[in-house]
Amino acid sequence: MNLLFANDRAGEYPTSFYAATRDAAPERPALAGALRADVCVVGAGYTGLSAALHLARAGRRVVVLEAHRAGFGASGRNGGQIGSGQRLEVTDLERMAGQATARRLWNMAEEAKALTYALAAEAGVPTFRGIAHAGRRPTEVDDLHRMADHLARHYDYDQIDRLDREGLRALIPSPVYVGGDLDRGAGHVHPLNLALGIARLAEAAGAVILERTPVTRIDHGTATTPSRVVTATGEVLADHVILAANGYLDRLEPQIAARVMPINNYIVATEPLGARARQVLTENIAAHDLKFVVNYWRLHDDRLIFGGGETVSYRFPRDIAAKVRKPLEEVYPQLKGVKITHAWGGTLAITVNRMPCFRRPAPNCLSASGYSGHGVALACLAGRQMAQAITATGDGFDVMAALAQPAFPGGATLRWPLLVAGMTWFSLRDRLGL
Ligand SMILES: Cc1cc2nc3c(=O)[nH]c(=O)nc-3n(C[C@H](O)[C@H](O)[C@H](O)COP(=O)(O)OP(=O)(O)OC[C@H]3O[C@@H](n4cnc5c(N)ncnc54)[C@H](O)[C@@H]3O)c2cc1C
Repeated sequence: MNLLFANDRAGEYPTSFYAATRDAAPERPALAGALRADVCVVGAGYTGLSAALHLARAGRRVVVLEAHRAGFGASGRNGGQIGSGQRLEVTDLERMAGQATARRLWNMAEEAKALTYALAAEAGVPTFRGIAHAGRRPTEVDDLHRMADHLARHYDYDQIDRLDREGLRALIPSPVYVGGDLDRGAGHVHPLNLALGIARLAEAAGAVILERTPVTRIDHGTATTPSRVVTATGEVLADHVILAANGYLDRLEPQIAARVMPINNYIVATEPLGARARQVLTENIAAHDLKFVVNYWRLHDDRLIFGGGETVSYRFPRDIAAKVRKPLEEVYPQLKGVKITHAWGGTLAITVNRMPCFRRPAPNCLSASGYSGHGVALACLAGRQMAQAITATGDGFDVMAALAQPAFPGGATLRWPLLVAGMTWFSLRDRLGL
């Protein structure tokens, strides 16, 4: 099954709250005939749009081919949380890659946040500061506080307030959490408007974005011949190709797809809560907990946008609202029966070790994907890092590409049932509170 077309109407945004409240965006034409470019980018999410923007600003002729609409994928559907660090904690990275690399990766993630805030500001998309991390058990809270100390001591990061039970409940009036922290350097944003904003900046810099143009094949070029990026309605000849297809990569590049697994995750928006919004969050911050199948939320004006529930089946469940209502009402029993006005799913991509997968599948082709649920800021940076690799102005891409990135066990045929088994086990642990 082709995930690009499995759950959504071709060429249209899903019926999300974000699509309903998005900034105006032009309907862009599809590719018709043959085009020549310096760089052809496949996919118009944060990764592809940021690459296009930075390449266009460096004077390259860039054509972006997007199967549906700009921001159609995870970039237009996510929880909007601009988190700090990589998806792995620095202590895990220290064990995995050593102190110096862990430091470099932390610094890159700080660069990613700064870039994301700067792009949003330039595009006129508001961002808000603060993400709270909420623990259900004292051991989780201890871990959070230990990590905050470690970051302050060894990474000069002093933006995290430690919160005891009362401190956390003053921010998040939910009965299920017993403490946590508040990272004031992290933040949140309307995710689709961020993608549309970067698209505007890229076009203003000279990039061409074409929509409703699924790429069906890439014939990689050589040092002397360009690559051919093939679609049903034409082709682009380009000296470099950037793959920014994330969870939808499967058919285009099987050797990367073996390392990057698509999974689906679900979000709802409630009716406007009026005064009840203060029973959800008392400040304009975002929040998430520490469950394996994570719950995450924020307010948009006075509506609760709440995400939770993951499936590794290709298809979105028929009743997404019912699926997400369960964890929502568990976290906020005071909202029992609240009206859900929008419910949508999204496809993201995870890797075995939860670090993004940066690869060169051919000498003049770069790919970045698999941000494992932590891609809002990191994908914006990945786009810039790929642009810098092509213009020979930075080595961030190569630092990321040097990280070990194992394939999922089971190969293309067995990885899916094995992942289903693994995910089922971990969500069972969540339910049992293990
Ligand atoms: C429900 C959900 C919640 C999330 N919450 C958060 C969060 O709060 N914080 C966080 O940091 N991260 C979060 N993430 C992850 C984050 O959204 C992603 O890591 C990030 O958006 C990845 O951006 P991308 O550009 O690489 O991929 P995408 O945004 O998925 O873009 C890929 C694009 O490529 C296009 N494409 C694919 N194949 C082709 C083809 N063959 N031809 C042409 N076009 C193609 C697709 O149509 C799509 O538009 C979440 C993800 C989901 C799904």
